[in-house]
Amino acid sequence: MEDIELEKLLRYEDKHYLGSVDLIAASNAPTATVRANTSWGVAQFRSAEGYPGRRPYAGCANIDAVEQLAIRRVCKVFDAEHANVQPLSGSLANLAAYRAVLQPGDTLLSLSMNAGGHLSHGHPKHLVSSKYKVVHYSVDPITRLLNYDEILLIARQERPKAIVAGYSAYPRVIDFTRFAEIAHDVGAKLIADISHIAGLVAAGLHENPSLTGAIVTTSVEKTLRGTRGGFILCPAALRSAVDTAVFPGLQSSVGLAGLVSLCLLLSEIGSASFRRYQERVVQNARFLGSLLSDHGIPLVTGGTDTHMIVLDVYAIGLTGRDAEKRLEEIGILSNRNLLPFDPLPPFKASGLRLGTPTITARGYDESDIREVSEIIASALLADGWENAQRNSLRDRVSELAWQPRAEDTLKDLYLRVHS
Ligand SMILES: *Cc1c(COP(=O)(O)O)cnc(C)c1O
Repeated sequence: MEDIELEKLLRYEDKHYLGSVDLIAASNAPTATVRANTSWGVAQFRSAEGYPGRRPYAGCANIDAVEQLAIRRVCKVFDAEHANVQPLSGSLANLAAYRAVLQPGDTLLSLSMNAGGHLSHGHPKHLVSSKYKVVHYSVDPITRLLNYDEILLIARQERPKAIVAGYSAYPRVIDFTRFAEIAHDVGAKLIADISHIAGLVAAGLHENPSLTGAIVTTSVEKTLRGTRGGFILCPAALRSAVDTAVFPGLQSSVGLAGLVSLCLLLSEIGSASFRRYQERVVQNARFLGSLLSDHGIPLVTGGTDTHMIVLDVYAIGLTGRDAEKRLEEIGILSNRNLLPFDPLPPFKASGLRLGTPTITARGYDESDIREVSEIIASALLADGWENAQRNSLRDRVSELAWQPRAEDTLKDLYLRVHS
């Protein structure tokens, strides 16, 4: 690289990241194929505007074909009638989905942020809250699970035009069929946001909301293992509303690189190795959760069905911020998270969210997960937080992070930095 200042920063980041254990539930490492081929030829920088066959630009025939290929592959994997593959992120996919089915001032019913909802589901400072009337459902105060009877009652009372299901910090399966029934009961559209669980859905490990007739939104870089981006699935009847909401409603151009990345990713999804990977992600999350719970750290909902666990660190005398900081100091990346009915403000929070997509992609096995759990328990349960203890845990994390693994999807980067 010619840019010395930037190169230095990137080298630091490679070293920092590869020497860390990334347990952020929203993170993942794309597959080697996706990483290697995304910037193939002029795809690196070519872009177009509009939709295949209807572009206000000349010279787009090949880009049209690639976009159509991406659409066909997405529809096949998720059994959808139509896909829009242009959203630049999951948040923008949500905004477009709202725009496709809501008028300004209409009511949108979603899960509150502290119970696991996403910013784009109605955070007071998000654009969505200035366009629509956002009302929330929550989880059961005792079990912390979705209570569908309660959601139905709220929906009948509030008469929303759209209901959002699918979350950022809910570790259990979501009954999309039940949500579709609730939406039908009150004449609302169901928007299923599978940003976190798209990989599990694609592998058949979680119910596919597309089959319920819902509008489905997602980001691509979480469990699905793509590069930054999003897409929307919908029934054929909503095709034009959804497409118009994305372009010209919200975005202008579409980059060929993103479409290439998505096509590559989708071609891998049918493989046995993709399914095996997703199964191991869930197994690893269950195992890590049960080990931490054995150490006396409570898990919200008592466990997980997905790639994610949410720890109640307030119960062991820490704030989420303190817990996140302790782990960061020893090289483990995680994030603080609000818990349902959290007494603390978001900046502190009472929960800590962990996820296994990245460590699974890096080939961690059962004994690695056991070591991760012991390191986390020692850090979070330590009475004081002394230098000596911090340094010894830091060394153990470093050893784990720099251990070569045959199955590490980032092996090429690892070898370059390590040598
Ligand atoms: C991450 C996430 C999004 C947003 O994805 P971005 O691509 O980061 O905008 C949307 N919804 C949920 C539930 C998420 O967890």
